[in-house]
Amino acid sequence: MKIFVINCGSSSLKYQLFNMENEDVIAKGLVERIGLGEGLIKHEIAGRDDKIKVSGDFSNHTVAIDAVFEQLTHAEYGVIEKLDDIQAIGHRVVHGGTKFTESAIVDEDVKKAIKELFSLAPLHNPPNLMGIEACEKIAPQVPQVVVFDTAFHQSMPEYAYSYALPYEDCKELGVRKYGFHGTSHKYVSQRAAEILGVNIEDTKMITCHLGNGASVAAVKGGKSIETSMGLTPLEGLIMGTRCGDIDPAVIPFVMEKKELDVDGISNYMNKKSGVLGISGVSSDFRDIEEAAEQGNQRAQLALDMFAHRVKRYIGSYSAAMNGVDTIIFTAGLGENSADMRAAICEGLDYLGVKIDKETNNVRGKETVISTDDSKVKVLVVPTNEELMIARDAKTLVG
Ligand code: ADP
Repeated sequence: MKIFVINCGSSSLKYQLFNMENEDVIAKGLVERIGLGEGLIKHEIAGRDDKIKVSGDFSNHTVAIDAVFEQLTHAEYGVIEKLDDIQAIGHRVVHGGTKFTESAIVDEDVKKAIKELFSLAPLHNPPNLMGIEACEKIAPQVPQVVVFDTAFHQSMPEYAYSYALPYEDCKELGVRKYGFHGTSHKYVSQRAAEILGVNIEDTKMITCHLGNGASVAAVKGGKSIETSMGLTPLEGLIMGTRCGDIDPAVIPFVMEKKELDVDGISNYMNKKSGVLGISGVSSDFRDIEEAAEQGNQRAQLALDMFAHRVKRYIGSYSAAMNGVDTIIFTAGLGENSADMRAAICEGLDYLGVKIDKETNNVRGKETVISTDDSKVKVLVVPTNEELMIARDAKTLVG
């Protein structure tokens, strides 16, 4: 069974074609600058070292996806003969609101629900739906499945997802914590249970997805009971360019002092803050780590603030679960930065966390990085949201 997984952004899309017999990736790639004039496809085929680059005017998502399918079925280097060789298409959709606790097969009701959530995820759900509609046009015979970033967190209890704002308004406006990166938190928690050979139902895990966007989740018995992102991905940890938790009173104060309107303050907190805003160097942690090493104090402050915030969340989530037995690091920074993992875990010995310096010195590889006598197991588990989407698509279609 072959499954095509697609993650559509407003002007770019990422894709992977899986052979589900062995879960191998047959081909994958990226289309950039959709609708922006001259665009580019970077296409990779398993077993070939070179990247195939195709430029063209991809005026919309249908044109872009059509061009990707041309690569997959190309006479010379195609990996399938025809589109019918694909048994399902799986889409990442960011916001599933309260309606979707699981992945779903696309039908008119599902598309309507995704559309109704446009106001909660204005940057993500519209291009996600464009991708679905483009595939319907190009490959109407192939069933499509949607996998939501929010779905895994729908198990949070009401006292965890509610905000202390007027109750009726929250219900009427849908103002509550939804949480994001759910597919990643679910994947790494399940994978960690497999690696450790334990029954996930008996575990209390804290999963730290630390990338450009960053969130932490408390996963008890395999279910999310708390997570740091909220109504939008702005809440919680400090991120590349997002501020995360702040006193809400800062918002009207800064709006007034800097004469910002609603869009202005939203842009300020989402695009100009985070480690970029603190360091003034970059939103990329590699640049910040390098600058800090060369003595840049604001870069060091950004790293210290980031680690401190993650540590505080670990403490609070272990309180919420009455303990923690496993901590997992994933995503760009979590998988690659031994220094950041060490900084976060430093001073967590009261919880029973002991990191092994040697094994922590790892990048992007499944590894237990705690010592044998550490009460809490600490792991690096590279995330694989695409595989999770392909698996859900296989289950739903199969
Ligand atoms: P997203 O999917 O949210 O864009 P990723 O999970 O790809 O994010 O993570 C991107 C972040 O990971 C970047 O800020 C980058 O600095 C960081 N990162 C990637 N590799 C390394 C590394 N070797 N050391 C430190 N940080 C890294």
